[in-house]
Amino acid sequence: MNMGIISGVFKNKCPYCYQGDVFKGFLTMNKRCPSCDQVFLKEEGYYLGSMIAAYFFSAFSVIPVFVVGAFYFQLEINLLILIGSIQVIVLSPILYRYSTILWLWLETIFTKNT
Ligand SMILES: [Zn+2]
Repeated sequence: MNMGIISGVFKNKCPYCYQGDVFKGFLTMNKRCPSCDQVFLKEEGYYLGSMIAAYFFSAFSVIPVFVVGAFYFQLEINLLILIGSIQVIVLSPILYRYSTILWLWLETIFTKNT
């Protein structure tokens, strides 16, 4: 069974076998795939690159709130910054989870045939 990157990331599936879950809890990651035994927790700092994805996810999630707040509700910039900051803090566990899985999938896609 083959799986696309978007469905694989949102279904929390292993990019190698498409069966095992990457995360066993909401924020707790499996050290190895429960299905194919592929190592998920690789070397120290491996998932630092996922911070780039989390940064873009958080930036793009704030933009619509800023646009609606500024042009529709005509809120002050200080209030918009406060709302955006609270939004990113609240969303950070979700961003961590999906950016980590995305990073694992991207690494697998780009190194599978090398
Ligand atoms: Zn697997």
